[in-house]
Amino acid sequence: MNKKSLVGLILAMASASVVAKQAAQPIAIAIHGGAGTIEKSRFTPEKEQAYRAKLKEAVEAGYKVLESGGDSLDAVTTAINILEDSPFFNAGKGAVYTYEANHELDASIMDGRNRQAGAVAGVRHIKNPINLAREVMDNSVHVMLSGQGAEEFAKKQGVELVESDYFNTPDRYKSLLRAKEKLKQKESGTKDYQAAHQSLPLEFKVGTVGAVAVDKNGNLAAGTSTGGMTAKRFGRVGDSPIIGAGTFADNQSCAVSATGHGEYFIRYNVAADICARVEYQNKSIEQAGKEVIFGPMYESGGTGGVIIVDSDGNISMPFNTKGMYRASKSSIAPTFVGIFK
Ligand code: ASP
Repeated sequence: MNKKSLVGLILAMASASVVAKQAAQPIAIAIHGGAGTIEKSRFTPEKEQAYRAKLKEAVEAGYKVLESGGDSLDAVTTAINILEDSPFFNAGKGAVYTYEANHELDASIMDGRNRQAGAVAGVRHIKNPINLAREVMDNSVHVMLSGQGAEEFAKKQGVELVESDYFNTPDRYKSLLRAKEKLKQKESGTKDYQAAHQSLPLEFKVGTVGAVAVDKNGNLAAGTSTGGMTAKRFGRVGDSPIIGAGTFADNQSCAVSATGHGEYFIRYNVAADICARVEYQNKSIEQAGKEVIFGPMYESGGTGGVIIVDSDGNISMPFNTKGMYRASKSSIAPTFVGIFK
């Protein structure tokens, strides 16, 4: 073999190995639309169908990004934007009301390649808070911006702002009135706002959207966006914009997006704890997720769930509530859409 054909052979073998490596790298995405008291008896067939269709639309849009070679961060924001624009979920358009009948939205995103992250808290006029979180990650020197400052930054970056009445939806308003009524009854009994809020039914405390993905380069990403908790007060910030609590991604372990009673998810550092178990204890994402979701946090009263993906394209979606809106799709498993247990 002459020198030229030897070089040709080596180049051909090298590119075949790159192609084989790429083909061997699975792509995968999982999304959630919140966990909580989601029971079949509360749904008409039409309503269930509509929720399933929206979840499918979001997961397939995210998957399409991955399939066409896009990166996991773009897949995550694409899927989340669809859920944020739907009134069905507590994020973006469908955000719940605060005690004072406003909307204060939180979101965060994390890049598994390098632990870069961006987050926003308490924003009132951002149509898609996940896009602003992405701007914070990509184009600021900070990780989290809140309130007015975050909105100033949004204007500077050309992120879409809306009037606050964009977030007004009749069902969420009714929910606020019901929550306030319950708070009033409990408060007069206990004379203690905290105890009253603590005893509010789960339906007022949960709901959020999120996505996790792995792309063709094996890079992981996670994102979460929420309206928080119905009747929340005094600038309350939940777990969703807190890196490590509601969102975490690291190529060494996994990507996680959480939904649940934020105060517990913050204290139990849920998303980072799952990834730490994967990285340091060599646990599967399934085992690590179950340990955290059904472990001491649950025993102390913390309810909710997570979606998890690893760089092998494995997906796990544990939750300790009656249901969790969820969907997934990967190059090794077909589209799955679930709502109930
Ligand atoms: N974790 C969100 C919060 O506490 C709510 C939810 O995910 O259901 O703000």
